[in-house]
Amino acid sequence: MTDLARTENLQETPTPRIGVLALQGDFDAHRRRLEELGAEVVLVKKPEQLDEIDGLIIPGGESSTFLKLLGEAGFAKLKEFVRVKPTFGTCAGAILLAKEVQNPTQSGLGAIDIGIRRNAYGRQIDSSIREGLFRGIPTEMVFIRAPKISRVGPQVEVLATEGHDPVAVRQGKVMAATFHPELSGESSVHQAFLDLVSNGKHE
Ligand code: GLN
Repeated sequence: MTDLARTENLQETPTPRIGVLALQGDFDAHRRRLEELGAEVVLVKKPEQLDEIDGLIIPGGESSTFLKLLGEAGFAKLKEFVRVKPTFGTCAGAILLAKEVQNPTQSGLGAIDIGIRRNAYGRQIDSSIREGLFRGIPTEMVFIRAPKISRVGPQVEVLATEGHDPVAVRQGKVMAATFHPELSGESSVHQAFLDLVSNGKHE
């Protein structure tokens, strides 16, 4: 391969630029994990930063607080973004992306056709580390005041399960997980999202 061809090759697969919504919650652990995997990370604090990125992670935290901090304009801009660009929501982020939110009912972005029940494990098992299956491979999963996916629409692919529960799902360019992949020792879930971002670019 000539040097020129090599350069052109590199230009075809530029480093993906991934935003992490950094209004609240554990956004920094996602930043570290994405950087380890070679992505360029933008901590998104203002709606206009959504225009600069190829994909977005909405981290865990408190979904009702996210809604307050986003405000109407931020919510509308985010809703537009998730329709066109790859987005991955973990825990509170998954709640924000869902079509229906229960316990209590709250607005969702409707980006993925699932029903989700907040704080579904009860207070006794507030947080836990359990082993689930991500694409059939045993994977450590950290659950913190986690929701449960109560309904999976016909267009939704189940990527991961824990016991009988779906815990990571995908519909088109949107991924959601009820656990915290940024807090476990494995990178497979973040890698799957980066693959989704690069595949979307080649469409
Ligand atoms: N319990 C939180 C909520 O309902 C989610 C918890 C988390 O993101 N770790 O939004």
